[in-house]
Amino acid sequence: MAVQTVAGNATTAPVDLGPAAALSCRECGERFELGPLFACASCFGPLEVAYDLPTGSPEELRKRIEAGPDNIWRYAPLLPVPADVADKPNLNPGFTKLVKADNLARELGVTGGLYVKDDSGNPTHSFKDRVVAIAVEAARAFGFTTLSCSSTGNLAGAVGAAAARAGLRSCVFIPHDLEQGKVVMAAVYGGELVGIEGNYDDVNRFCSELIGDPLGEGWGFVNVNLRPYYGEGSKTLAYEICEQLGWRLPDQIVIPIASGSQLTKIDKGLQELIKLGLVEDRPYKIFGAQAEGCSPVSAAFKGGHDVVRPQKPNTIAKSLAIGNPADGPYVLDIARRTGGAVEDVTDEQVVDAIKLLARTEGIFGETAGGVTLGVTKKLIEAGVIDPALTTVVVNTGDGLKTLDAVSATSQATATIKPSLDAFRAAGLGTA
Ligand SMILES: *Cc1c(COP(=O)(O)O)cnc(C)c1O
Ligand SMILES: [Zn+2]
Repeated sequence: MAVQTVAGNATTAPVDLGPAAALSCRECGERFELGPLFACASCFGPLEVAYDLPTGSPEELRKRIEAGPDNIWRYAPLLPVPADVADKPNLNPGFTKLVKADNLARELGVTGGLYVKDDSGNPTHSFKDRVVAIAVEAARAFGFTTLSCSSTGNLAGAVGAAAARAGLRSCVFIPHDLEQGKVVMAAVYGGELVGIEGNYDDVNRFCSELIGDPLGEGWGFVNVNLRPYYGEGSKTLAYEICEQLGWRLPDQIVIPIASGSQLTKIDKGLQELIKLGLVEDRPYKIFGAQAEGCSPVSAAFKGGHDVVRPQKPNTIAKSLAIGNPADGPYVLDIARRTGGAVEDVTDEQVVDAIKLLARTEGIFGETAGGVTLGVTKKLIEAGVIDPALTTVVVNTGDGLKTLDAVSATSQATATIKPSLDAFRAAGLGTA
């Protein structure tokens, strides 16, 4: 992996990304100046953002956050963004609903409080708007003019929309065989959308080559050369969940896994809240969810391995179909350290779970949401998730983008002539 310097940027002025102080290597700890780097020059380990976090009292910080806007920028003091980020043109994602899911809880036998963090409410209807919003600030700071990504679907739409709003060019890459809802959602914002004949892992490899080529100069790939910044956006899910629970940690969180970035950064966000004294320091468990047809992390967890062996994905949960997940080993660490687990469900269980969530709580999640709820149900039934504890299930996307998953079994009950007689004759309205 080539470590990039800023293309065509001769100035040495330090970038202003708020409390972000440096990049540090997750493996060896070596620190690097903030820049579009993603791999350690010494050991090739992944880089992450290191901070000078606020030092005031927790009360003060809590008040400051609560007085902020109803989106992720209320947490700007904890993110790699300039202090005036909320004044710039962006999509202002976040502060999505934390739904107390009492009907679902009754059905699953959960007594300790069950919540759905519903990220389908973001501007492009998935959690990806959070990570892209942070990456856009990094792209601006480093002088990039084109925003790009390798995507399993939702990211392409989030990048297209954010680039349109920020006045940047965009060119995004997807596997050619995605759901129509995802393709249209990615194309409508007017940037370039390129289907690659291959799966996500092929798309990702292609993007890595493009970064090293003169063709890719001035391009910010949100999940490749801007990945350390991008990942930080997922911390806001942790912040919001705790704030919405009344500045309290949940006991158990269930999170879907594609590359594993979201899960690892939710854990990082929870750790920061503890360190800052914003929540009480007590144990929590993190559970990861995959589809059986793409379950490299789940297979490693259940096999007791530290190494994640790549798979060739084959599942309806296309947004999670990453066969070689970059953050897989870190997910294993977190699940094991917190006493959680990683589990997978079949496509049939995914469909059942989508319908269960819709039927009980009026939330239509995409296939990734079905994976997460399906795994939650499976782990409750297996006695792994404790029904007496507070549990949060993250629904990361909108069912309108994956209609095919349920369309065969979700159709009109009947089609009739516009007359009461016909309605009566069909035996309807009596349920
Ligand atoms: C991208 C995505 C995820 C998880 O992504 P990670 O790569 O693990 O961070 C989960 N749900 C949906 C709907 C997604 O689009
Ligand atoms: Zn290193």
